[in-house]
Amino acid sequence: MAILHGWRYCPRCAHDLEPGDGCVRCASCGFVGWANSAPCAVALVEDDEGRLLLGRRAVEPYRGMWDTPGGYLHEHEHPLVGLRRELLGETGLEIEPIAFLGVWMDWYGNGPSANSTLNMVWRARVVAGELQADDDVAELAWFAPADLPPEEELAFGLLPSVFAAWRRVQA
Ligand SMILES: [Zn+2]
Repeated sequence: MAILHGWRYCPRCAHDLEPGDGCVRCASCGFVGWANSAPCAVALVEDDEGRLLLGRRAVEPYRGMWDTPGGYLHEHEHPLVGLRRELLGETGLEIEPIAFLGVWMDWYGNGPSANSTLNMVWRARVVAGELQADDDVAELAWFAPADLPPEEELAFGLLPSVFAAWRRVQA
């Protein structure tokens, strides 16, 4: 229940919360807070030479580490809408998905209140736009499959497994 770690009072009415099975409940107003994973859409953007687009994070956590473009979905947003929104914002590129690669679980942040993330990963290609890094991206760069950054330079624990799956479908 990492996302609910330290929750003591109802965010709606400020009554004391009671811990439940994977949730917290408010006996006063009926509010229930569930410890769900947060859904994220992630793009493995490939160019015509088979290279992969990565961004170096300009913000904490994992500042200075390499990451795949993507991010948290908004409420009720379709993952592919969120994928296109995140890519346009982070990279200035309009993309279209080529194929769904899979789902990976991970954590965002460290410590007892880290967020559990559910990451949906698509291979994608650029259809329009100019490469332009957003403020929270220090740098964008293309990497050949054999030249991807080493594990210690990657922001998130899921990335080595994602890259391995990507290399398998490239081969
Ligand atoms: Zn309440």
